[in-house]
Amino acid sequence: MPVSVVTGAAGFLGSHLSDRLLSEGHSVIGIDNLLTGSVANIEHLAGNERFKFIKQDVTEFLYIPGEVHNVFHFASPASPIDYLELPIQTLKVGALGTHKALGLAAAKGASFIIASTSECYGDPLVHPQTEDYWGNVNPIGPRGVYDEAKRFAEAMTMAYHRYHKVNTHIVRIFNTYGPRMRLKDGRVVPAFVSQALRGEPLTVFGQGQQTRSFCYVSDLIDGIFRLSQSSFHEPVNIGNPLEMTVKEFAEHIIKITGSASTLTYKPLPVDDPKQRRPDITRAKQILGWEPKVSLEEGLTKTIAYFKGRIEA
Ligand code: UDP
Repeated sequence: MPVSVVTGAAGFLGSHLSDRLLSEGHSVIGIDNLLTGSVANIEHLAGNERFKFIKQDVTEFLYIPGEVHNVFHFASPASPIDYLELPIQTLKVGALGTHKALGLAAAKGASFIIASTSECYGDPLVHPQTEDYWGNVNPIGPRGVYDEAKRFAEAMTMAYHRYHKVNTHIVRIFNTYGPRMRLKDGRVVPAFVSQALRGEPLTVFGQGQQTRSFCYVSDLIDGIFRLSQSSFHEPVNIGNPLEMTVKEFAEHIIKITGSASTLTYKPLPVDDPKQRRPDITRAKQILGWEPKVSLEEGLTKTIAYFKGRIEA
């Protein structure tokens, strides 16, 4: 039975990834310090004898007895509000945490996959973003703590591949949404959905003309699982190429929730990327992957989840 270690297992993506690995017959060792993760995301796994949870900060030495076949490094704060509140932890988990997770993979002869990000492209000057674009990142801006840590993580991952011959993979994750996002993490999906459900105005930043492309979580996890099983080492974008402005997105949410909410405009955060859309040609060619869940279907499931959280 394959044994997979998932750092950030109590987070949004880490918990969905753990579910997928368990359904593929893996046994999973989840590690999380619960800084932004929540046990609520993994409580359904309590009693599952193929799932073990270790509460630990992955910037510390990782001791895991026995065989490990795959290491998935998914621990990190992941919302712009988190970067402002947890800048040092964000840098540490991307840099020191990646080093520890790679060290574990090297010691165990395991494959490794790093959750990287479209933030590696910064405020991109190339559109849509292909993996061979090197990006336009402000290293000292408030988002720099995340962007640069992930860029360092990619460099470290390639070094372990080239020097230690670890079977490494890099997934560049674009905006993803779905159940288990934190209601108050400040990202646009939880913000707009909870505002619409409460009948409050939706807080559109800037004029709402910046674009994003939103991928439903099950599609993203499928791409990540396929990449983890491949022998491809260069970065691969995984995301949904359906691009829209933030204002259009707000209007979608109002329509799907049937809310009477209006829009209110707030200042645009520093270095907020103006345009973002993944070029997924590589994922299609290498992994035979493309997203399947429509925005409407994904949002309907996500809204149902947030409704439960708001009422609870
Ligand atoms: N955004 C917004 N209102 C909010 C939260 C976010 O208009 O209440 C905008 C934000 O400025 C950005 C986009 O929505 O342009 C996506 O923001 P998010 O924080 O979800 O992720 P990002 O793609 O910026 O990392």
